[in-house]
Amino acid sequence: MTHDATADIVIIGGGIVGCATAYALTHALHPPRRVVIVERDPSYRQASTPRSAGGLRQQFSTPENIALSRATLHVLTELQSRFGLDADASFREQGYLVLAGADGEQLLRRNADLQRQQGANTAVLVAAMLRERFPWLDTTAISAGSLGVTGEGWIDPVALMTLLRTSAVRRGCEIVHAAVTGFGATSDRITTVELSNGVRLPTGAVVIASGAWSGDVARLAGLPLPVEPRKRYVYVVDCREATDALHNAPLTVDVSGVWFRPEGRQFICGVSPSEANEPPACDLEHVDYQPFDEVVWPALASRVPAFEALKVTNAWAGYYDYNTLDQNAIIGRAPTHANLYLACGFSGHGLQQAYGAGRAIAELVLEGRFTTIDLARFGYDRVAANRPLFELNVI
Ligand SMILES: Cc1cc2nc3c(=O)[nH]c(=O)nc-3n(C[C@H](O)[C@H](O)[C@H](O)COP(=O)(O)OP(=O)(O)OC[C@H]3O[C@@H](n4cnc5c(N)ncnc54)[C@H](O)[C@@H]3O)c2cc1C
Repeated sequence: MTHDATADIVIIGGGIVGCATAYALTHALHPPRRVVIVERDPSYRQASTPRSAGGLRQQFSTPENIALSRATLHVLTELQSRFGLDADASFREQGYLVLAGADGEQLLRRNADLQRQQGANTAVLVAAMLRERFPWLDTTAISAGSLGVTGEGWIDPVALMTLLRTSAVRRGCEIVHAAVTGFGATSDRITTVELSNGVRLPTGAVVIASGAWSGDVARLAGLPLPVEPRKRYVYVVDCREATDALHNAPLTVDVSGVWFRPEGRQFICGVSPSEANEPPACDLEHVDYQPFDEVVWPALASRVPAFEALKVTNAWAGYYDYNTLDQNAIIGRAPTHANLYLACGFSGHGLQQAYGAGRAIAELVLEGRFTTIDLARFGYDRVAANRPLFELNVI
């Protein structure tokens, strides 16, 4: 069966990156006529976006990452004018606090300088200042912490995704519920997208915004792409002894890599495993509590004495859309086909970068170049050359 109308652009994946791309395309000065999102699961059961911790920060070591997150911050200041008077993404602007020991202080200061040069409001506090500002914090072995005084915190991921999707749909974007199973192509262009319902959808361009499964989708087009699912756990904990000050804490990242933040009257927390301890990327319904008992809780209890008495009340698992080369996004044109674009590999920071990434793809598709943030270094070239561009602040 063949679909009757040709799409100008097919976006594979209806998570926040796909929705942001559709939003940017449909709101362009000269929008394409037919923008189609193909999403295999309308319930988003395994998608990363609803399982995200919602964090938005500018505390990165790579200028492009800072700029991408600042683009989302800007959108949050314009929610009502863009999406309507009742638009709300539940932005809790409580900051990020990144802690460093003596060996990490120099890097922390260098990153803070870079962030400030790009307009971020990052302050560096030495241990005595940290103790004064955050009385719940034990600063043993801490020399300094960088704090996003404004413009950082967390949002409701699904709320922002829904605003972008609804707005794109109002501007004519169509959503097809099916899985992409293959492509038809000439030697240098994708011509059709093949769907699990038997439809072959002719198209002018294709965007792979398929989250953790982007590597699988790219392989269907013959493109090796180092993006795969990596399972991460988020634990929800109750703390009897938490003070109001602790409930107003920033998202705090310990030197051990363990992080926590308030969530309502509870807290959420987690840690990224070492490469050797990566859990198998299967069965999101299974949560392993061993990392909590052995790594997360001990680190939390020594950094925040009130956390010695904690009760785990809930937990969930989700997939990072992990770029195994360098944990940075891959945004740009694919080398195999002139009309194939990539927006994936965000490795745990795609929620806050989706808006900027979607806008960048729209610029490339419609104008042939980046016109706002220069993301040339995030292109596929570095993958082809095996030349990683490491982000040092991966949480
Ligand atoms: C535990 C956890 C915490 C996180 N915390 C943060 C955070 O604090 N801040 C932050 O910025 N980011 C965070 N992230 C990362 C963020 O959630 C992701 O980077 C982001 O959601 C990626 O969005 P996406 O649209 O690319 O992927 P997804 O939301 O996964 O959407 C991709 C979609 O593609 C669809 N798809 C896949 N293959 C096909 C196919 N063949 N055909 C059709 N559809 C297909 C899937 O069904 C899916 O719905 C976190 C992630 C996790 C798991």
